[in-house]
Amino acid sequence: MPTLIRDVAALAEATNGTSPIALVPTMGALHRGHLSLAKAAKQNGAQKIIVSIYVNPLQFAPHEDFATYPRDLAADCQKLDGLADIVFAPDNLYPTPQTIAIALPPLAQELCGQSRPHFFQGVATVVCKLFNCIRPDIAVFGLKDFQQAHLIRLMCAQMNYPIRIITAPIVREADGLAMSSRNAYLSTSQRKQAAAFPRILQTAAAAIESGTATTTACQHAANELQQNGFVVDYLQARDYATLAAPQNNKIIILAAVQISTTRLIDNIACTPPNATD
Ligand code: AMP
Repeated sequence: MPTLIRDVAALAEATNGTSPIALVPTMGALHRGHLSLAKAAKQNGAQKIIVSIYVNPLQFAPHEDFATYPRDLAADCQKLDGLADIVFAPDNLYPTPQTIAIALPPLAQELCGQSRPHFFQGVATVVCKLFNCIRPDIAVFGLKDFQQAHLIRLMCAQMNYPIRIITAPIVREADGLAMSSRNAYLSTSQRKQAAAFPRILQTAAAAIESGTATTTACQHAANELQQNGFVVDYLQARDYATLAAPQNNKIIILAAVQISTTRLIDNIACTPPNATD
């Protein structure tokens, strides 16, 4: 079983001398998607793998699910048996009010940031604190949160963190739904409905790959989602490498939808037939 560490001082002692150290930041309620990140850390040569588990208040708006977010530290530690050396689960990373934050580029106000304007600043700030507490050599992020991984990579480069950022592919349920701690909020019928989300994105990606205009495919997908009972927060195609407006290159389709009060996100990459890159 991994060693459970609950405060920053003890962490410094436990990590002293080992390298490379990998950090896998999570909010807990672990599933196979999270576990795949610990495995990716190992495959990338990590000697010590630290999984942080912290439901970060800074990234939730008052009306969001901070209070009800699933928490089960004992079960999480069990799931990490053989996959992580340390679970860092601080009681509170903000012993004094956090008045300093990481400022991000305008991209942080787009896509997920449009309906969650403080989200990425909260994420970047806690990741920055975790980087400073743990000083990892490697940090692993899932491509399920594609925009988040992109912004963390930017932060790391521009703030000169000597940390190798590794991304790992989306782990999905058998019916294609991306694994998420929030899937636990779905009722049986909502869970069935949710499977249409990745299917519709997949259809849009296939249409783009066979020559349908990106805007047409995205508009069609958004209509399909609405017809299948989803409220569409956004569905957009962006340039895969930069997340700017799509160029004549590889594309990423990113979307967020709501089923009742549960918000789900997903994305899929595709390459139009005339792409140059
Ligand atoms: P979270 O606990 O939801 O904040 O996620 C922690 C990390 O796990 C983030 O880097 C996510 O992108 C990653 N993650 C969450 N779900 C998945 C998944 N289904 N596949 C791969 N990575 C995931």
